[in-house]
Amino acid sequence: MQNKRELGGQSPQSVYSRELGGQSPQTTTDIIIVGGGPAGLSAALVLGRSLRTVVLIDEGKPRNAVARKSHGYLTRDGIEPEALRSLAREELRRYGSVDFWHDAVQEVAITDGKFRAITKNGGSLASRVIVFASGMKEQLPAWPGLTDVYGRTVFPCPYCDGWEMRGKPLAVLGGGSNLMAHIKLIHNWSRDLIVCSDGPADLNEQEREQLEQRSIALYEQPLAGLESSAAGELTHVVLDGGERIARSGAFVTESGPRQATDIPLRLGVPLDESGVYKTQSHGLTRIPGLYIIGDAKQSFSGLTGAASEGYEAGVAINRALVEEDW
Ligand SMILES: Cc1cc2nc3c(=O)[nH]c(=O)nc-3n(C[C@H](O)[C@H](O)[C@H](O)COP(=O)(O)OP(=O)(O)OC[C@H]3O[C@@H](n4cnc5c(N)ncnc54)[C@H](O)[C@@H]3O)c2cc1C
Repeated sequence: MQNKRELGGQSPQSVYSRELGGQSPQTTTDIIIVGGGPAGLSAALVLGRSLRTVVLIDEGKPRNAVARKSHGYLTRDGIEPEALRSLAREELRRYGSVDFWHDAVQEVAITDGKFRAITKNGGSLASRVIVFASGMKEQLPAWPGLTDVYGRTVFPCPYCDGWEMRGKPLAVLGGGSNLMAHIKLIHNWSRDLIVCSDGPADLNEQEREQLEQRSIALYEQPLAGLESSAAGELTHVVLDGGERIARSGAFVTESGPRQATDIPLRLGVPLDESGVYKTQSHGLTRIPGLYIIGDAKQSFSGLTGAASEGYEAGVAINRALVEEDW
């Protein structure tokens, strides 16, 4: 897919339209979708099949870009993250009413119940409905060496990567009030487990005894860093004071997810205490015509959950437009 730079600094145009013969870009559409991960792509598919005009605007910086493989998505278990999105974009090409802009939405204004999105590359597009499938971005703990191994042998989610790490010497890294729940969960995939809570662990006496009974060592010193091989595989967890503990992989208790965009917030959609946008049924927000789906709504919906939300929102949006037009 092309971006403005690749297009030679011209005004943003539909990548599909250009590939189909360079038609001029649209200025209005039924639905703008912000974000081309599984949530946005799935919504675009349902809406395209419902004969709706859709412009999907994606800046191409998904949260799982650091991962080498994605797991647990039916028929695509083990696929590379970008390959999954690329397959979906290829399927969408069948639907002439769906267009794709490689660009970033910077501003959205609402006038008389209609939306107008302004993009980084200077695009301006009006719509009846807007869907934010913009996902989350990580703000990882500042442990030296973490970014070298994150998405390779250190992960946020055992359902995504636990099977690949099964039986290996693992660590739970980080603390928080859900620490015990994390320990129990990761213990499901490996009995060779340590916990490095990077400060005093939020565990009661009974929970500490349970760890001892299972030979799970608890280290409460601050974490000094993570060492890895030249290939980016975790080799050691290093504690304050210099102790190095050999480990092959780890799961973090907290990856610091933040909304990828605050545009819905600026438009008046509130965040809940966990930092996700508050929505009603099928991702509809308190603003008529503005929907939020995927990680932006669930924090970590997973590929299947995000695609499922895209489908549900797509059906709900089309039903609402059918009623409006009747
Ligand atoms: C390291 C890691 C590994 C993971 N592995 C798995 C796995 O194996 N299996 C699994 O099911 N889940 C996995 N996940 C979770 C999964 O990646 C997410 O739950 C899923 O991608 C959410 O989909 P989404 O469509 O909501 O958001 P995303 O996939 O993050 O897509 C959002 C898109 O919106 C774009 N965007 C944001 N703001 C704007 C804007 N203003 N304008 C234009 N575009 C914008 C972003 O650039 C991005 O392309 C993993 C997550 C991480 C962090």
